Amino acid sequence: MHSNYSYWEDKTFFKHYDVIVIGSGIVGLNAAYQLKFKEPVLKVGVIEAGFLPTGASTKNAGFACFGSISEILNELKTSTEEEVLEVVEARWKGLVKLKMILGEKAIDYQNFGGYEVFKGGEEFSSLTCIENIPYFNKLFKSITGQTDIYAVANKNKAAVFGFSHVNSMIYNRCEAQIDTGKMMSALLGRVQEVNTPVFNNCKLLEIIHQENHVILKTNQGVFKTNKVIIATNGFINEFYPDLQVFPGRGQVLVTQQIPTLKIKGTFHYDKGFFYFRNINNRILLGGGRNIDFKLEETTQAGITDQVQSALEELLYETIIPDEKPIIEYRWSGVMAFGNELKPIIKKLEPNVFCAVRCNGMGVSMGSLSGQQVADLVLNEM
Ligand SMILES: Cc1cc2nc3c(=O)[nH]c(=O)nc-3n(C[C@H](O)[C@H](O)[C@H](O)COP(=O)(O)OP(=O)(O)OC[C@H]3O[C@@H](n4cnc5c(N)ncnc54)[C@H](O)[C@@H]3O)c2cc1C
Repeated sequence: MHSNYSYWEDKTFFKHYDVIVIGSGIVGLNAAYQLKFKEPVLKVGVIEAGFLPTGASTKNAGFACFGSISEILNELKTSTEEEVLEVVEARWKGLVKLKMILGEKAIDYQNFGGYEVFKGGEEFSSLTCIENIPYFNKLFKSITGQTDIYAVANKNKAAVFGFSHVNSMIYNRCEAQIDTGKMMSALLGRVQEVNTPVFNNCKLLEIIHQENHVILKTNQGVFKTNKVIIATNGFINEFYPDLQVFPGRGQVLVTQQIPTLKIKGTFHYDKGFFYFRNINNRILLGGGRNIDFKLEETTQAGITDQVQSALEELLYETIIPDEKPIIEYRWSGVMAFGNELKPIIKKLEPNVFCAVRCNGMGVSMGSLSGQQVADLVLNEM
């Protein structure tokens, strides 16, 4: 088909790439940045299906976290201690990298600490989790260098935050929060600084292998590159259906501003399936995927009455029982999960690599995944 692209446009924007990254989420942008940072002569481009990223990286809650105790106990039901340790280390190291690359100020990194909230009746009782504090403090010291990460929170803290029905809380002094919008904007800035174009509204449709290179058919034209990194996370099954990746939709709401807001920090409830935080005098609250795993195993954007009602119930009955703030934002994002906890970072076929499946913790581990896949590609060049 005749495209009407000029010779200049074709040569400059569609051809002669060393590496093209598919997906401009936190992983894809970090991969592109690391390639150029380490090998500035490479010609690198990023292709993004949406006007903005449409997966998880601009839709998340902005927790700089590495696991609440009930969440990790839950992970230990299906993974070994070694596997859990490996993934907690990736989350920790990813956060260190994120801060190093972008700077704490640029991402509004605030170390207010995190709390796991117990109401009674959870699968892992507060007692079980509290009993496990010394074990996890010892285990995670080996990878974080930090002592006494978890501790039982002061008895009066629940009242200070204005909670109702909360029996006890576990405090994590190393947990923090960031401004997700600022983080993604700063990351885009880094990618621009290293002279790497990001093509938005450009959806990969087909991957065609030729002798020494790859042709990428998109809705905007045909790109030619030596290597490809697929960083499409929950969407990767469109091209690689056999990869062990399941999409998981996460729903979120944000209240109007609450002048008397008392909560400060990042909060987890029910094995991390629910989470909330303060953001500019508002409450951001998300989760509830576990209410109907099958229904939420989708790449479709959308919110459901069932999950939104559960979020509202938690908001109005437990988090802020004395007021009824209006909900000003509701949205969804798509994460990627699998039976194994660790991300998939590997060569898929000649010249094609991937870094996907952050298991819902890509703010934390995404910068590391990006670097790891960039290193894999650089090793082959
Ligand atoms: C509601 C929610 C809350 C979360 N909260 C947290 C949190 O507090 N802390 C934390 O650590 N993690 C959190 N996460 C997880 C974290 O956001 C993700 O793990 C991370 O953003 C994944 O980054 P990614 O780059 O792998 O994928 P994505 O951000 O999903 O990026 C993939 C990109 O690929 C693009 N794409 C897909 N198909 C194509 C195609 N064919 N052609 C071109 N482009 C394509 C998509 O448009 C998308 O922009 C949350 C996620 C959600 C949804």
